[in-house]
Amino acid sequence: MSENVREVRIMAVLDIQKYPEPVLKEKARPVEKISKDIQRLIDDMADTMYEAPGIGLAANQVGALHRVIVFDVTPKEEGRNLSVLINPEIVAASGELVHQEACLSVIDYSCDVRRKACVTVSGLDREGKPVQIEAQELLAVVLQHEIDHLDGILFIDRISRLKRSLYKRQIKKNLKK
Ligand SMILES: [Zn+2]
Repeated sequence: MSENVREVRIMAVLDIQKYPEPVLKEKARPVEKISKDIQRLIDDMADTMYEAPGIGLAANQVGALHRVIVFDVTPKEEGRNLSVLINPEIVAASGELVHQEACLSVIDYSCDVRRKACVTVSGLDREGKPVQIEAQELLAVVLQHEIDHLDGILFIDRISRLKRSLYKRQIKKNLKK
């Protein structure tokens, strides 16, 4: 194989872990070094998110316990604008909003979730450069949802116990089929 051929990156779509997979309940570890493996994970997560399609994906969802998220809330007609955050952290938050959420790991379900309306998130970009994002509306929701994943929290953990138990019952029934 020639050098040139080796440079071609093959698109890799990973399996998305679905509730109740235990990895979704685990806490992801901070990334200490942005190695080639982490770069590849980021690329594969982006492919997986766009293929799904989704607007955000956390590493736990592809079974990798590293604090990495990818997201893109750009409207479809405006093309792609991928964002990557490594070791993201909410450093400020204010206000409240309620938004209907769904998740690639929680099949056939969506529900209103109460979140902070505005968040400031700091982290590293894929080159390791510190970045800070001020987000509101949909982007604020996505960032809180994805950072929750890194802490082993799903959006169904943030709804009422009654709604959650109805969903769990439905899933159990489906798994038995
Ligand atoms: Zn999710």
